[in-house]
Amino acid sequence: MKTNLATTLRSPAELVAHGLARAADLPDLEKVAARYAVAVTPAIADLIDRDNPDDPIARQFIPSADELKTHPGENADPIGDHAHSPVAGIVRRYPDRVLFKLVHVCAVYCRFCFRREMVGPGKDSALPDEAYGKALAYIRARREIWEVILTGGDPLMLSPRRLRQVMTDLSAIDHVRIIRLHTRVPVADPARISREMVQALRADGATTWMALHANHASELTAAARAACARLIDAGIPMVSQSVLLAGVNDTAAGLEALMRAFVECRIKPYYLHHGDLAPGTAHLRTTLAHGQELMRQLRGRVSGLCQPDYVLDIPGGAGKSPVGPTYLVRQDSSLQTREVAGEMRYRVTDYCGDVHLYPPE
Ligand code: SF4
Repeated sequence: MKTNLATTLRSPAELVAHGLARAADLPDLEKVAARYAVAVTPAIADLIDRDNPDDPIARQFIPSADELKTHPGENADPIGDHAHSPVAGIVRRYPDRVLFKLVHVCAVYCRFCFRREMVGPGKDSALPDEAYGKALAYIRARREIWEVILTGGDPLMLSPRRLRQVMTDLSAIDHVRIIRLHTRVPVADPARISREMVQALRADGATTWMALHANHASELTAAARAACARLIDAGIPMVSQSVLLAGVNDTAAGLEALMRAFVECRIKPYYLHHGDLAPGTAHLRTTLAHGQELMRQLRGRVSGLCQPDYVLDIPGGAGKSPVGPTYLVRQDSSLQTREVAGEMRYRVTDYCGDVHLYPPE
C-alpha cells in the first residue's frame, strides 16, 4: 500500500501515524531524530510501499534504530569539510573549484547523508549576509576558481529570488565560468522546479549545470522526469550522483535500472559514491569489493552512456578517487618476454571477464 500525503512529515510520531514506521520503534526513533533531522515529502512518501519491510525508498528516508550505533572509523565530518574551509561557506579541495554551502536545510533528510551532523532545522540554516559577502570575495580574489558548486544542504531550498541573486553575483565574476548545483529537489519535491525557479538558475556569463541525487529508479517518477525536463529544456545540462546503498541499489539489476532511467531523462550518469563513513550509517554501506563487482557487471549490461564513475571520497578531505575495477594490468614480469614496439605488454579484461593480451602475440 502506498501513502498519499499533503505535507512533509518531520517527526517519528508523524511517520508512525501515517504507517511509515512501527509504534513499537518510536522510543528509538525519537532518539535518532533528536540527533539527525527527519523529513519525508509527499512525493517520497507516495513512493514507499508500507507493506514491504525492505522498501528501498523507506531505507533511504525512514529513520532506523541502527543509526544509534556508531562504528569504528565513522566520523561526524567524514570527508573533512571543516579542515578544508578557508572561510565560512566555502570548502576547497582542488585548485580550480570550490563548494559554496549556502543553506543547511534539505527537502528530505537521507539516512546516509555524509553531512548529517551539519544539516537540518536547528543547525545554522543559511549563510548570513556578511559571511556570504566574504565567501564571494574569496572566490573573486582567486582567478584560478573556474567552477563553483552550490551545495549544502540543498541549494534549491532557496527561493527563486535568492537563487537569482546568487547566480547573478557569481556570474559577475569573470573567471567563474561554471555554476553547478547539487540537488535532491526534482525528485523530492518536483513542483518546486517552477518556471520562476528555472529562470532564476540561468545567468549570463556562466554556464549552469545541475547534478541530481537519486539512488533508485523508482525515484524518477513522471513528475520528477517532468521537473528534470523543464531544467534541461531551458538549457541546463544535468548529470547524476548516487550513493551505493545496501538494500537500495546494491544489485547489478538495480543499478542498471537506475542508470537507464537517468539516461532516458537526458541525465548523464556521473558519480556512484561509495558510502561515506558518516556516524550510524554502517547498515547502509557495502564493501568496496562488492561495489567493484557491481561496476564490472554494469559494464557488461549497459552502454558507456550509462556508466558512472565509482568514487570514494577519501576520509579527511583528500578528494575523490575513482575506485572502479581495473581492466588493464601489466603482464606479470615473470611472464614478460619482450617489449613490443617499445611498449610493455598488458592484460586487458573484456566485459565478459575474458582476458586478452595487448598488443596481441
Ligand atoms: S539531500 Fe543531500 S545534503 Fe540533504 S540529507 Fe540528503 S544527502 Fe544530505
